Amino acid sequence: MSGRWHTIKETELLEKMGTGLKNGLDEEEAANRLIRFGRNELAKPPKVPLWQMFLGQFKDFMVLVLLAATVISGFLGEWADAVTIMIIVVVNAVLGFVQEYRAEKSMEALKQLTAPEAKVQRDGQEKRIPAIALVPGDIVLLESGDKIPADLRLLEAHNLAIEESTLTGESVPVRKQPGILPEGTGLGDMNNMAFQGTVVTRGRGKGLVVATGMATEMGQIAGLIHSSEEEATPLQRRLAQLGKILVSSCLAICALVVAVGVMRGEPAYQMFLAGVSLAVAAIPEGLPAIVTVALAVGVQRMIKRNAIIRKLRAVETLGCSTVICSDKTGTLTQNEMTVRKIICGLDLVDVSGEGYIPQGKFDGSYHKKDLQMLLKAAALCNNSGLAQDNISIGGLFRGMAGSKKTREWRINGDPTEGALLVMSAKGGVWREHIELKEKRIAEFPFDSDRKRMTVIYRDAGAATAYVKGAPDIILEHCTKIYRNGRVLPISNTIKKEIINHYCGLADQALRVLALAYRELPGGAGKLNEKNIEQDLVFLGLAGMIDPPRPSAVKAVKTAKRAGIKTVMITGDHQLTAQAVGRELGIFGKGSRVLTGADLECLSDDELRREAAYVSVYARVSPHHKLRIVRALKRNGHIVAMTGDGVNDAPAVKEADIGISMGIAGTDVTKEASAMVLADDNFTTIVAAVEEGRGIYDNIRKFIRYLLSCNVGEVLTMLAAVLAGLPLPLLPIQILWMNLVTDGLPAMALGVDPSDRDIMFRKPRDPRESVFSHGLAWRIIGSGMVIGLGTIAAFLVGLSAGDLDQARTMAFNTLVFSQLFYVFTCRSEFHTIIDIGFFSNSYLILAVLISAVLQLAVDYLPVLQPIFHTVALNGSEWLIVLAISVAPAFISTIFKHIQMKTREKIMYLRV
Ligand code: ATP
Repeated sequence: MSGRWHTIKETELLEKMGTGLKNGLDEEEAANRLIRFGRNELAKPPKVPLWQMFLGQFKDFMVLVLLAATVISGFLGEWADAVTIMIIVVVNAVLGFVQEYRAEKSMEALKQLTAPEAKVQRDGQEKRIPAIALVPGDIVLLESGDKIPADLRLLEAHNLAIEESTLTGESVPVRKQPGILPEGTGLGDMNNMAFQGTVVTRGRGKGLVVATGMATEMGQIAGLIHSSEEEATPLQRRLAQLGKILVSSCLAICALVVAVGVMRGEPAYQMFLAGVSLAVAAIPEGLPAIVTVALAVGVQRMIKRNAIIRKLRAVETLGCSTVICSDKTGTLTQNEMTVRKIICGLDLVDVSGEGYIPQGKFDGSYHKKDLQMLLKAAALCNNSGLAQDNISIGGLFRGMAGSKKTREWRINGDPTEGALLVMSAKGGVWREHIELKEKRIAEFPFDSDRKRMTVIYRDAGAATAYVKGAPDIILEHCTKIYRNGRVLPISNTIKKEIINHYCGLADQALRVLALAYRELPGGAGKLNEKNIEQDLVFLGLAGMIDPPRPSAVKAVKTAKRAGIKTVMITGDHQLTAQAVGRELGIFGKGSRVLTGADLECLSDDELRREAAYVSVYARVSPHHKLRIVRALKRNGHIVAMTGDGVNDAPAVKEADIGISMGIAGTDVTKEASAMVLADDNFTTIVAAVEEGRGIYDNIRKFIRYLLSCNVGEVLTMLAAVLAGLPLPLLPIQILWMNLVTDGLPAMALGVDPSDRDIMFRKPRDPRESVFSHGLAWRIIGSGMVIGLGTIAAFLVGLSAGDLDQARTMAFNTLVFSQLFYVFTCRSEFHTIIDIGFFSNSYLILAVLISAVLQLAVDYLPVLQPIFHTVALNGSEWLIVLAISVAPAFISTIFKHIQMKTREKIMYLRV
């Protein structure tokens, strides 16, 4: 039931809900209502219980066979063996469970980080709160790009349009406006309501929350909303395929080992158990979980650097990115704007003063009236607010200022508008003053496509429209100019003069806005953009600085070194864009600028060709961004693209890595993106690329480690049976070794720090195999060295005549070779001495624990009979250790030679 909310008078409704349009609820009442009505969220499907997740660890076919074989061996009287195998299998399952649980928890934490927020009016102030904390009676502020957080009755709407396809199937946005509707109005026609889950595509508004959570229209039709499952990343998919090949080849080799062993007269039962154990040990069943953990750990690291990953796939793709397309304002620049120069009528005036403090002077020769009019337009055509110590100007006027000496001025809202507000205040023009007499009756909000904004104010008599926006666009609509206190026609020569001034300001990297007005003597008439935003009177220009972020200059350099091109995309003027681009190191010799207008004239093919040289796109509209992404992609680039406004969403979605702004971004863009920048800062993108590269490296590290070791194990067994030797390892030893070598050390590799020169390499080709650049050969080579070493140790032991002693030597050689070898896997280029032995303390701890456990099995009298181990003497240990360091040693020598011919290595820059 959609309730009767749309039929009740607004004042009645506000009273009924116990709230006020200006102040909203107070926090205490909101907290009470939250308890009464519950959180504003839709019911989720029940989670998989932990016990099921644990049992899931035993689903693997080979583990089941092993368990069955163990039970049989128990019945045959091998109790100690059976119980130990059971314990090892259970401990393995616990390890697997812990990994899976950790991965799941980190993914959950991630979802919370990207949970939606809502802007509300509470305690008389505008606040951002998590959308789940909304309660009936809250007043919600809406802007284009917002996702409606609950069911709302609209109280204010300025050009508001909402797309409701998720609810009604209608994909054309619906115009909304306050008012009362008759009973029986259908959901699709309730244009005084906004429904949870739909999206504001245009305009601004205010609404009263009438229903939350499951009581909303969406909650009632959806019942249980099944959150979409995170799809596997390309690497995870490839590894799953690889896993299948590995499983079948492992099974084939194990079957061969069993068959040959049985033919050679080994007891069939023991050979079978050995075969199954080998299969369990050699099949890298932990791989998918470790990959997920590595990705999740990477995600955590990225969060520390302000990059919030929404799609796991982005972690991998980030490392491959070859172009970063970034917005200028706020991402590459500081977005702390100060008006430095104005053109008042046609006169150049310098504005002094620092930051947002409304104190400064206007230096130059200008007509007083012209300046007053310009400042008035800037103050009124403005939705930002100036506040001191969080007290709004209105409050300050009422004498609410604190007595502190150092009071801090802040801007609420868009910094561009904030700068204009400060400029007006420097001249003694305050919106709050004017609004005592004049009232705003309409607004056509700013958006990046229109590049302008208009408000209409009415005083006792006539109405006036105040317009501001990109100068070229405003000038097109001007027919007059306000000069020396009079309205004069604007000639082409005057227009040219204004444009010259404009280019002069833009060339100094200033962001320039034009201001204009129009009197509407017959009242506002039928309000629409077309008939109001024409025949305007030009007032002047305001040029503001927006300094580049110093960190962005460094990040652009780092990206360049890492083979990544930075492209700046901005709605600003070409000259401003060029000047800022130069300061940032984006625009230099050989690079080109392309404007939105140029772009319109190019075919897709021409744009593709041009895109290879362009590093600055100026005066573009959001829909151009989509064409830019496509052109770059067709050039074979892996494109990261930032966006904030609702119209950026398609480009952000199309990019290989869509990036949205955490602060300035809209809900829609955030939802389309794979990564959110918590600080809206370009530097964070480059940091995330670095982490992405590191994570991929780490995945390669443990794949190398796990597979080299498994090849070593399988080869040992295969070589022994083929050579007619007794079994070098007993089933229980194989299982134990799997536990101590694969568990902790492999996990510790997943959190290994990155190579320090990781941002000196070229980007990785996303199509390349995870085994490329010689990894497969390294795995096979090291596996062979490990296997042959183990056989050698076994033979030395056998020559002394005792099988248990020989097995203990082989067993220890195999375990310790892996524990030494793990250190070599830490880098593909650098030796352990290079990267520092102690730089991954988790790995040291993991190896120590594994070594102690192994020694316990060697020496503890209770364990010796179970694992058929004997204590080795000094010279035997010497042989074991000498052989064990061989794989690590050989690999280090190879690396050393490689380092000498560094330019040939892998994807290092030539
Ligand atoms: P980015 O660099 O992130 O693309 P931008 O600020 O350069 O952002 P837009 O925000 O799309 O691009 O602005 C485009 C142009 O519109 C600006 O150059 C300016 O002239 C004008 N403009 C910006 N903000 C406003 C505003 N609040 N009101 C009116 N005009 C504006």
